[in-house]
Amino acid sequence: MAIDIDRVRALTPGCSHVNHLNNAGSSLLSAPVLQAVKDHLDLEARIGGYEAANEAAVRWERAYDAIGTLIGCGRDEVALAENASRAWEMAFHAVPLGPGDRVLADHGAYVSCWLSLLLVQQRTGCTVEVVPNDRSGQLDVEALRRMVDERVKLVAITHVPSTNGLINPAEEVGRVLRGSEALYLLDACQSVGQLPIDVGRFGCDMLSATGRKFLRAPRGTGFLYVRKGVLDRLHPPFAEHRGATWSGREQFTWRNDALRFETWEKSYANAIGLAVAVDEALALGLGPIAERVQALASSLRDQLGSIRGVRVHDTGVVQSGIVTFTVDGIASSTVMERLRAERINVVVAEPANARLDLEDRAIGPVVRASVHYFNTAEELAQCAAVVARTKA
Ligand SMILES: *Cc1c(COP(=O)(O)O)cnc(C)c1O
Repeated sequence: MAIDIDRVRALTPGCSHVNHLNNAGSSLLSAPVLQAVKDHLDLEARIGGYEAANEAAVRWERAYDAIGTLIGCGRDEVALAENASRAWEMAFHAVPLGPGDRVLADHGAYVSCWLSLLLVQQRTGCTVEVVPNDRSGQLDVEALRRMVDERVKLVAITHVPSTNGLINPAEEVGRVLRGSEALYLLDACQSVGQLPIDVGRFGCDMLSATGRKFLRAPRGTGFLYVRKGVLDRLHPPFAEHRGATWSGREQFTWRNDALRFETWEKSYANAIGLAVAVDEALALGLGPIAERVQALASSLRDQLGSIRGVRVHDTGVVQSGIVTFTVDGIASSTVMERLRAERINVVVAEPANARLDLEDRAIGPVVRASVHYFNTAEELAQCAAVVARTKA
């Protein structure tokens, strides 16, 4: 069923204030998500934080089931986290690595993931290698196939990179890795809430995501999926009392599910907001969401690409809601400022934060406009019109 755009916009307070094309940064909350968070904070203030968590248990516990439905896993394969970086790091640092082990990553690796990869390479003597892109600019699946051997312990792939409008072939990666011993960690930070995700179909062992981007959940939320079958191959870097029990003076026992990766203390208000946001995405349907996001992004690319001096830089075969571009002779920061002056929200992506992507492609800082299903054709036309008028 098609998305009722008037209705979703009426339920999104921000839509009457800004032309929000920064959904890959942090999307706009819906009124029900906002209300659910506020209600829980009110309840905490009224009756106490522990008591409120008890009373609202059904509401925050819903987060695990909703996420399970969203990505096709069991509720016991989900751990909540405060953001995607922490979720990813919890999984990554749990992978046993030593000298001679190989880790494969992709050109879209998010800055913090790459920093962690470097850290662990320095600490353990493992080697981190980047899988080349194919001619379309997406991860080269055949090159990956040639690189995988028994020394590859982890393949860490970015589904939708944050500085390029491409969607990497996550499912094909899973197919290549089937039967190999390598663990498959998928960074789905930009894809969850934007695209249908099915961890079974992708074949990933672990998947990390954030709340605030395409899921439209509050800031400070995220989650990690860990497949049940790989739990015992992972060594969580932290033990604390959500994930383990103090079973004897000198002993502890891990929980037997993904909660061994979760911390005891969390924002229950945010967890409730996350649950409501995921339920809203499920109600609209990830199929219709993806279809509309891709149609809008493709229209924006066409409009920008037809302006003289504007270069659209997105690569790949299948493209996401992220649109990256530059204007000849005008700094991307200036383009962003002109758009912001008209209350059009975009950001600039810096090569220093995307050395394997923007720096390798030598295109300098790019303007990133990222659409969501609630954006309209008028908003895209307005953005393109401001870009067309921008002078140095
Ligand atoms: C934003 C982003 C992250 C990090 O997410 P946080 O919630 O900010 O920690 C990781 N990977 C990709 C591809 C991202 O775009």
